[in-house]
Amino acid sequence: MNLFIMGAPGSGKGTFSSRLKDQYQIDHISTGDIFRKNIKENTALGQEAKTYMDKGLLVPDELVNKMVLDTLRNLPADSKGYLLDGYPRTLEQAKAFDEMTKGTPQEVETVLYLDVPNEVLNKRILGRRTCPNCGEIYNIYFKPTKVENVCDHCQTELTYRADDNEESLAVRLGEYDRATRPVIEHYQDQNKVVLVDANRDFEAIWTDISANLNS
Ligand SMILES: [Zn+2]
Repeated sequence: MNLFIMGAPGSGKGTFSSRLKDQYQIDHISTGDIFRKNIKENTALGQEAKTYMDKGLLVPDELVNKMVLDTLRNLPADSKGYLLDGYPRTLEQAKAFDEMTKGTPQEVETVLYLDVPNEVLNKRILGRRTCPNCGEIYNIYFKPTKVENVCDHCQTELTYRADDNEESLAVRLGEYDRATRPVIEHYQDQNKVVLVDANRDFEAIWTDISANLNS
């Protein structure tokens, strides 16, 4: 089973990725992990990627494509497939990936898209509060504390990420949407997209995903 998982920040991609990995015993691969591994092991591709990252530049598509493909081709022989997270990020990457993998065991079968309205993503991300002491995560809209801004378990004052503000989030969501919408449409043309209404509780979403993948 070869899957791409796509969804905006706050769509629940991380949660469902772990569940998919456990359920189907597939290899969960994120582009972040691929970059880190190549850099850590000082591969030729990693060295090249680092020259861009050190300058604060985006790693070019061609190099990203190479690293992803290299990783997929080197999965263990008994691998049951992959779940790629954070890739393809652009239509160009998607097209290049398709071309490189067409008819091979690495070809993608299903593109899972977790669809959540922007106003809900806003609340999920901007409402998030964390307890720096015990690690409990709250949300002022969906999971408020009994006493405002104080952890229910250990009475510590909660913190939030300073870079999660309304303007920066709007930019991030806008960028995500612009880059990925063409990717989704590209795979819709190939009948590979499973669009999941991810603005529901976990079990409802999971039931939907597993029904789609098992059929
Ligand atoms: Zn706490």
